[in-house]
Amino acid sequence: MKLSNRIQSITGDGSDGWDILYRSRDMIDAGIPVLELTIGEHDNRTDPSIIDEMYRSAKAGNTGYAAVPGNTDLREAIAARVQAQSGVPTTKDNVIVTTGGQAALFAAHLALLDHGDTGLFMDPYYATYPGGIRSIGSKSLAVPTHSDHNFQPQRADLEPLAKSAKSLLINSPNNPTGVIYSRETLEMICDVCLTNDVVLVSDEVYDTQVWEGEHISPRSLPNMADNCFVIGSMSKSHAMTGWRVGWIIGPKDAIDRILDLSTINTYGVPGFIQDAATFALTNGTELETEVANVFRNRLLMAREILKDETDIRLIPAQGAMYLMLDIRATGLSGDDFADQLLTQEHIAVMPGESFGASAAGHIRVAMTIPDDDFKTALTRLIAFAKSKIA
Ligand code: PMP
Repeated sequence: MKLSNRIQSITGDGSDGWDILYRSRDMIDAGIPVLELTIGEHDNRTDPSIIDEMYRSAKAGNTGYAAVPGNTDLREAIAARVQAQSGVPTTKDNVIVTTGGQAALFAAHLALLDHGDTGLFMDPYYATYPGGIRSIGSKSLAVPTHSDHNFQPQRADLEPLAKSAKSLLINSPNNPTGVIYSRETLEMICDVCLTNDVVLVSDEVYDTQVWEGEHISPRSLPNMADNCFVIGSMSKSHAMTGWRVGWIIGPKDAIDRILDLSTINTYGVPGFIQDAATFALTNGTELETEVANVFRNRLLMAREILKDETDIRLIPAQGAMYLMLDIRATGLSGDDFADQLLTQEHIAVMPGESFGASAAGHIRVAMTIPDDDFKTALTRLIAFAKSKIA
């Protein structure tokens, strides 16, 4: 079958970090235990009270087509949450519910970019960013960030590229670096966007996982509410990755047009799942705090293990469920480090290169295995790294 260039352009960036994951899965299938610190999936499951609410809703007959933009209750709950977090007046008209943050990212870019337009994103990046932009026939262009600046974007890197771009995708708290963009960084980014007529897409799916400092939504900065889409999700906050509930926040007229896309594409998110999400968002912050605290505790363990470490640098872990380690002192690339760590120590991590050139010589460690295993894995990982330096 002759396929479109678009669909064939979806893959193609970075080194194949998934190779490590597939190899570790093969090892596990062959009976070899592997400590897997690869994917951003909680080891804890969704709270039973949320599952109960889904069941209740479905049993009550809520199994037909749901409202395409999302149920009013859920849109209002999301709007209230976003307003409380950011201080920006937000109503249900600023919200569309999508099948996960993933579909929200796709829809936001389809709404902003025409064929041949340029969409920027920060490197290192969440793996699907460039393919998502290319899949709509647009050019994806990476803005480098630097380990030496703790991956906080710099004006000198962004400004020249912004001149020819129509959108910029950022993510804070950040996957894969664990960094949270400072107010100064966000002000710089917003200034460059407003000056160059670039719309900002702010992926805030990790906004409940803040370990240090403050998460600031750029939508709250001057003149940004009309120049910004915010991407949100239940996946990370409530350990609901498989439920596929996310959203876009934006100006009403833009949200109305994105509704046209949902109508021809997904035709909405299942009503019983929306009811469960509404329950999760309207019953206080206890559930999300519980989910976040698991990673907060593991970060404390990691800090303890790394406290006297001078050769392997932990990039300031301010948020999200990942640690990024600068392993350049070993003389290995991230790819080679991850490859040897898997072969020799049976520990799987993601090579920095799989998130873009800016994270070369780094590895990403997902804090997503039980505490004791996590401690063991990190201790052995550091010993392995030291053995390469000695
Ligand atoms: N953005 C980032 C930065 C992510 O890490 C992820 C998932 N790993 C997503 C968006 C998509 O999340 P979901 O579709 O599950 O909401």
